Amino acid sequence: MKANKMKKSEKLNLEDFMAGLVKRNPGETEFHQAVEEVAATVIPHINKNPVYLENQILERMTEPDRTIIFRVCWEDDTGKIRTNRGYRVQFNNSIGPYKGGLRFHHSVNLSILKFLGFEQTFKNSLTTLPMGAGKGGADFNPKGKSEREIMRFCQSFMTELSKHIGQNIDVPAGDIGVGAREISYMFGQYKRLKNEFTGTMTGKALEFGGSLIRKEATGYGAVYFMEEMLKHRGDSIEGKNCLVSGSGNVAQFAAQKIIQLGGKVLTLSDSSGFIYDPKGINEEKLNYIIDLKTNKRGRISEYAKKYKCTFHEGKRPWTIKADLAFPCATQNEIELKDAHHLVKGDIIAIAEGANMPTTNEAIEAIRKANIPFAPGKAANAGGVAVSGLEMTQNSIRLAWSREELEERLKNIMRDIHQQCVNYGTEKKQVDYVKGANIAGFVKVADAMVAYGAV
Ligand code: NDP
Repeated sequence: MKANKMKKSEKLNLEDFMAGLVKRNPGETEFHQAVEEVAATVIPHINKNPVYLENQILERMTEPDRTIIFRVCWEDDTGKIRTNRGYRVQFNNSIGPYKGGLRFHHSVNLSILKFLGFEQTFKNSLTTLPMGAGKGGADFNPKGKSEREIMRFCQSFMTELSKHIGQNIDVPAGDIGVGAREISYMFGQYKRLKNEFTGTMTGKALEFGGSLIRKEATGYGAVYFMEEMLKHRGDSIEGKNCLVSGSGNVAQFAAQKIIQLGGKVLTLSDSSGFIYDPKGINEEKLNYIIDLKTNKRGRISEYAKKYKCTFHEGKRPWTIKADLAFPCATQNEIELKDAHHLVKGDIIAIAEGANMPTTNEAIEAIRKANIPFAPGKAANAGGVAVSGLEMTQNSIRLAWSREELEERLKNIMRDIHQQCVNYGTEKKQVDYVKGANIAGFVKVADAMVAYGAV
């Protein structure tokens, strides 16, 4: 049937679409949540462009290209054999090789990896670089494990994963629980199994193909994005009080860039609670946290003891009054009640450093209050963007300077912001959720239309 003769009933509607998705993917609540957030803003755009309807683009985009699930056996220090479950969800390679992180955390399951892989499709598209989307990991908890146990786990995990990845196929990176140490063990095993030295993983150490700025990129990128949002309203980060959650990779470097741009970081957190330092976390105090979390694997509460400020056990930082919020820990850490606190506390803008840290109800409340809200797929895309630049440097066998990479990162974040403005502006207000979703969608969708039914 010709597109322009389509009947009204053939248009997509959110409720029916979600009912079908939930039926096909029972129990995958995080995946449902991520799809609903995108579908709500993309469906009206699809209905105005029948070519996407005719080609069932949203139905196809919400079905991963393939899902690989495997057993990971390893031996602990007592000689006991342990078993975990490994995953790689190769979501969409329409615009480049699958690309996305590996997460090692006890909570990892298929729903979480599908939500992350789906989000990655839009995020990678927004970076303007040629990267498809994937996500993987294992329900392995690195906390409390010895160095040797981590090495043995990573090697066993890579023994299976190596069959499914490659520099032109799928290029994994880090995520929660997977930092430089784990990437090194996995890349070492990959190299040994394949007898080749190619840029098949990103986030590598500088000595063997890693890129400068990669470790800073996600946090820095989120702050650059915030700076763009504020600039759009004639404002800046300078002098602003900021709430940051998390104290891992993203949070640390978001805090560092906020400090460099003249903002004041009041909070940081981990899975046991948050610290509130009304004097502000300066560069020296932040270095203590980076060392504590990266090298000593300590708890954020130790900061409160050392610098004599308060530690709020089991709580999140959103009740503290501030100007800007950067959720940088994990998914669903801003729920509806937290959003109400933020709105009442006079927050003027929010940028997600983590993936899906805000629930859909909370996003709705924030948007209703007219607070600029940058979704993770736009605001935290700096990490994967510099991973893309690591792939480029590996391919051309050159390493760019810190200045060159930071400039490229800034330009990419500026470009993503502009795409959000182009697709999300209504009555002079920018809806960043809508802008990011549609801009990310269009590029992948057009590639899928061009390929035909594949
Ligand atoms: P890390 O493992 O380095 O840090 C995660 C932080 O979040 C830690 O402070 C951790 O606390 C805290 N955390 C974990 N689970 C919970 C929980 N249930 N409640 C409260 N705090 C929790 O991970 P990253 O910084 O790399 O990643 C953070 C987020 O950013 C994730 O959503 C990730 O997907 C996303 N992201 C990361 C990118 C990257 O380049 N690293 C790129 C794009 C997105 P604790 O120390 O107690 O475990």
